Amino acid sequence: MPAIAAISQSALTYNLKVVKRKSNAKIVAMVKANAYGHHLDLITPLIDGADVLAVSELPQAQLLRQKTQRPILLLSGVNTHTELQQALALNCQIVLHNQEQIALINSSKQALSIWIKIDTGMHRLGLDGAEYQQYLPAIKANPLIKIECVMSHFACADEVQNPQNQAQLKAFLQLTDSQTNRSMANSAAILSNAKTHFEFVRPGIMLYGASPFADDFGLKPAMQLSAPIIAIKHIKAGEAVGYGANWTANKDATIAIIAIGYGDGYPRHAKNGTPILINDQLCPLVGRVSMDMISVNISNSFAAIGDRAILWGTDKLRVETIAKYSSTISYELLTGISNRVEFIQTI
Ligand SMILES: *Cc1c(COP(=O)(O)O)cnc(C)c1O
Repeated sequence: MPAIAAISQSALTYNLKVVKRKSNAKIVAMVKANAYGHHLDLITPLIDGADVLAVSELPQAQLLRQKTQRPILLLSGVNTHTELQQALALNCQIVLHNQEQIALINSSKQALSIWIKIDTGMHRLGLDGAEYQQYLPAIKANPLIKIECVMSHFACADEVQNPQNQAQLKAFLQLTDSQTNRSMANSAAILSNAKTHFEFVRPGIMLYGASPFADDFGLKPAMQLSAPIIAIKHIKAGEAVGYGANWTANKDATIAIIAIGYGDGYPRHAKNGTPILINDQLCPLVGRVSMDMISVNISNSFAAIGDRAILWGTDKLRVETIAKYSSTISYELLTGISNRVEFIQTI
């Protein structure tokens, strides 16, 4: 009885609709990192419903190309002639984000579509403003290169009031105009600032039903993670549970042992009190998370061996909550499920 990650097709469809309700722009569905850990095999509604699909590196582009003829955007771009050839063979649109890639792209004997990424203040990938202006004429002059879009990425979009957002948008507007397609918005910007939408929006986390904000915007969790109860213990007041004996019962308690742990991707740093849903009731995690197991205080609910506990992925228990209790973000939890977990598709 393994842990199961069930990927809801209707939730993916619904979340894509939320994007469309927020913005009229074309949609680049971010499906990097195996679709934020949801598995490229199990996200057909996104593959069929988006205008472009974006992955980080060539092996993922290759997997995706076996499933669809839709445009694929290669976010890392290419760094060698071999990579360029592979990207062209897969008919990828290629992100150009550093000076070194310009000569490589220009050397192509084949027509190709590129996205130029400019750095407006995040200081990770992207040509800076001066480089962009310096090299743009040569790129435009090459008849084999089609500039599909100019893009940039926000560093602080999930902090709506952060002045860096306005500064980045201003820098982007100074460098670009409406003669080219433009793209800036990730999920947080899609949900919070229509001025950033331009021609292409790039939703990631919201497609999977997690919100970058305290408001969940009605997004539906796409991954439901569950695991069975494999033992039930009755302990006395004063007795401790788990490694390091870091939780002690202050009164007699019933403890359920659930077959999931950090070896499956459940976060080891989840605190005592992290909620777990058992038979529709939230019960607190007690004691440390082990590799294969967690312990849950079920003194105030009913449960039997074989009942399945839900770790996250319902309206009652969202992954954002588990992220908070384990001092991380939903992105890390969703991408961190190990291959010991069985992935299934649900409606
Ligand atoms: C991952 C990514 C996104 C999506 O970000 P979310 O916060 O998940 O919506 C958008 N743009 C780029 C360049 C990315 O790498």
